Amino acid sequence: MSAEDPTRSLLASAREHYLPIYRQRELVLVRGEGSRVWDAAGRDFVDLAAGIAVNALGHADPGLREALVEQAGRLWHTSNIFHSEPPIRLAEELVRAAGFARRVFLCNSGAEANEAAIKLARRYAASRGRDPARRVILTFRGSFHGRTLAAITATAQPKYQEGFEPLPAGFRHVDFNDVDALDAAFGEDVCAVLVEPIQGEGGVLPAAPGFLAHLRRRCDEQGALLMLDEIQCGMGRTGRLFAHAWDGISPDVVTLAKALGGGFPIGAMLVGGPAADALGFGSHGTTFGGNPLAAAVARAVLARIDQPELLGNVEARGLQLVEGLRRLDPAARWFEGVRGRGLMQGAVLRPQFAERAAAVLDAAAGEGVLLLTAGTGVLRFVPALNISEAELAEGLERLGRALHAALD
Ligand SMILES: *Cc1c(COP(=O)(O)O)cnc(C)c1O
Repeated sequence: MSAEDPTRSLLASAREHYLPIYRQRELVLVRGEGSRVWDAAGRDFVDLAAGIAVNALGHADPGLREALVEQAGRLWHTSNIFHSEPPIRLAEELVRAAGFARRVFLCNSGAEANEAAIKLARRYAASRGRDPARRVILTFRGSFHGRTLAAITATAQPKYQEGFEPLPAGFRHVDFNDVDALDAAFGEDVCAVLVEPIQGEGGVLPAAPGFLAHLRRRCDEQGALLMLDEIQCGMGRTGRLFAHAWDGISPDVVTLAKALGGGFPIGAMLVGGPAADALGFGSHGTTFGGNPLAAAVARAVLARIDQPELLGNVEARGLQLVEGLRRLDPAARWFEGVRGRGLMQGAVLRPQFAERAAAVLDAAAGEGVLLLTAGTGVLRFVPALNISEAELAEGLERLGRALHAALD
């Protein structure tokens, strides 16, 4: 570290002034370009984390920068008491791209998008004459839906809920991919199902083939809404714009955030069918939702992602990633398997290494590659969707050295 490297003093300040709710790696990132980032000490990293599946077009993308700067010179904020063009265009473009959707609610984060979906499901049920006892929302063990009180209640993992009781009523948790358990829990009191097509935080666990189609049928039988949380797996991450496209089903609600703004905070709830009219004037809102800066950037992100060339890169790089991980561990000494779709992949560490996942991340940072964990003992790879073959190859090479350092 050079004399003017501010890393040490910044880390000390962070320890002193932040709520101690995160455990950041001991480095301070200052600059990025594509899938490469640099820290305050001048070291470079291949970024296979992309800000938790957020920086879908890498860092400092010229097109996104232009969209942001152009809008920054015009109009920053109006609130929803006045119109501006970027969020109207974005809603129009999301509806067109999604097919199933008729209307869009714009907000600022994933948790807010899911909170809106939960409120919409309840209002829709109420409008159809269901009393509160018949407005149960089904969610799945291992899910993650965000950190508001309703979202952690939907999130069927005790570690996110402990000590925050009393939690809101009206949620029921079921084992993921278990059709029999689902059928047993799917009483006539269920008004909606909220599910991730690929569980992200829970360990990069895809819905089993046919599971979403089964949910669609059950929801139709009960007049319940099928609500998909595509906050992590949507926006091209799997090689299709929406993850549910692989299952050939049509949902009632899809929530988006993370990659939607390519690094600028924005969330969205897309709604189709009669539920699109469930939230009327005054029933919901947010000051910053549909902010022109966020919407201008999201329009540029959507236009770039919803292209065969970009989605083709997701598929090709996804194969390269899975192949590369297998080649790093040919005898399957470390990994039990690799699962996921496109550029959302999880390498499942063997049980004896599961506790070392954080040590792998530390070693990886030391070797110059950034990645994430998910669930217990899963290394999670969610790089930028436009990562190049060479960047990914270099990231894998660095990861190989880190795995030896952490696990041998
Ligand atoms: C990240 C995430 C959320 C929460 O999004 P925030 O922007 O952190 O509120 C919800 N659902 C899924 C599937 C996520 O990955």
